[in-house]
Amino acid sequence: MKTLNFYFKDCVKNGYVIGAYNFNNLETLKGICLGCKKTSSPAIVALSEGAFSYLGENFIKNTFESAKKEYKIPLFLHLDHGKSFEMCKKAVDLGFDSVMIDASALPFEENVKLTKKVVAYAHKKGVLVEAELGVLSGVEDNVSAQADHFTNPQKAKEFVEKTGCDTLAVSIGTSHGAYKYKGEQKIHFDVLKKIEAEIPNTPLVLHGASSVPQEYVETINKFGGSIKGANGTNESTLKKLATKHHIYKINTDTDIRLCYMAALRKFLCEQPEVFDPRVPNGKIIEEISKLVEHKNKKVFMCENKK
Ligand SMILES: [Zn+2]
Repeated sequence: MKTLNFYFKDCVKNGYVIGAYNFNNLETLKGICLGCKKTSSPAIVALSEGAFSYLGENFIKNTFESAKKEYKIPLFLHLDHGKSFEMCKKAVDLGFDSVMIDASALPFEENVKLTKKVVAYAHKKGVLVEAELGVLSGVEDNVSAQADHFTNPQKAKEFVEKTGCDTLAVSIGTSHGAYKYKGEQKIHFDVLKKIEAEIPNTPLVLHGASSVPQEYVETINKFGGSIKGANGTNESTLKKLATKHHIYKINTDTDIRLCYMAALRKFLCEQPEVFDPRVPNGKIIEEISKLVEHKNKKVFMCENKK
């Protein structure tokens, strides 16, 4: 099987990214894997700290191993937004392929110190480390910030050299959650280009990159939900970021949640007589697989890259 290291170079060279899809339960994981199987794509399946405690260590390890056997696609397990050394250590010890240490809220030198500590531990066990410099606004699980602080390109160089991290999450205008932009979307390609010039050999990661499909928002609102004014990063921008830059991984969490809730709400309203949970759950898996298939084919451009 191809390694994540292989994809670091191959993504940039051949103009595609790997989708990093967050999962919380069996249905989301199955939907993601099924979508990637259909497009013959690799996938990074990511767990936030919240999802980690929701599922529990044994379920994580065993469902992931089972999914790998079942779907036969390059599948990598990743910790999303690990906030402490202890959390990252737990994921490394459990056999994750990569961990993110997000010390981006700390002052620069403290971010360096904590990231370095995680790198030293993870690399000893062959696990890759994603770090973050700069702050994304928005809310996602236990991650929240009021305003953007874009990644400083010179500082990024110093940071990567000092920490030895493998990949770097950058802040260039995207944001977490389902309410990304107050006015017009503004992605700072100028900042990104400067970062790429400073650290040309470091694969970059884009967070806060859900597109918040309006069909899901409308379905949720139509069937009793209330998420008025939700919006995301448009797909043509994401495609440009995926194909023309040094980004190797684009994260998607919010879109999967929206897809899940839209399918569930619609089903429950339209078929009130059904009380077998496998029926709506099957529908949820199908809808998530369609979302993932679409993203892999049309946005991340990673079809047939397994
Ligand atoms: Zn994130």
